[in-house]
Amino acid sequence: MSKPDRGHIEIARRGLMLVISSPSGAGKSTIARNILEKDQKMSLSVSVTTRKRRPSEIEGVHYKFVSHKEFERLRDSDALLEWAEVHGNFYGTPREEAEIALSEGRDMLFDIDWQGAQQLQEKMSADVVSIFILPPTMEELQSRLNRRAEDSAEVIATRLANARAEISHWLEYDYVVVNDDLDRAFSAVKSIVEAERLRRDRRHGLFDFVSELIA
Ligand code: 5GP
Repeated sequence: MSKPDRGHIEIARRGLMLVISSPSGAGKSTIARNILEKDQKMSLSVSVTTRKRRPSEIEGVHYKFVSHKEFERLRDSDALLEWAEVHGNFYGTPREEAEIALSEGRDMLFDIDWQGAQQLQEKMSADVVSIFILPPTMEELQSRLNRRAEDSAEVIATRLANARAEISHWLEYDYVVVNDDLDRAFSAVKSIVEAERLRRDRRHGLFDFVSELIA
């Protein structure tokens, strides 16, 4: 249904699932944070994980930190839309929050790896808009990982080793953004979201709007 909103016409639509993947250190989390801060219509899908909480992370904001047992319970009761083992820990996307948001026309950002992206693409392809963020060079990726002082040398080494495998999935994404400059990468992602929100097939309210328009 179309309804006037401060002088603008709002056409009802289904929410979109903005899936962003990249190897660790390519800047995905910074880009995601920027989008979430500046875009009131986008909220974060807070994953559950068995990984240890980093000192800077807040329970329920960055992740819901759970035991292996609790993770298995959620997975086995079909409470996760997708799940995967990444760098030796388990991560999963809670189903309910996402389904409610989408049906209410609210967009959600999913900061998940290629395995999760594949599963969402298979199950909910009409709602998914996927973006892969690439680092400008592997050297830059390594130095970004080193600068992030919260991880041990061993963790950094695992993440670097996994980066090439993650990058090998770039072809499975709708969009690819090279993060050589944070502002430019952010504005590219913003443009993608703006365009995707205007897609005809997401905006079921167009049927009423156009019928009234030409009545
Ligand atoms: P980190 O431990 O650095 O927070 O995340 C490690 C990787 O796991 C990142 O690539 C992140 O996108 C991915 N990840 C985080 N949450 C999920 C999730 O719910 N599902 C999947 N498949 N991957 C996730």
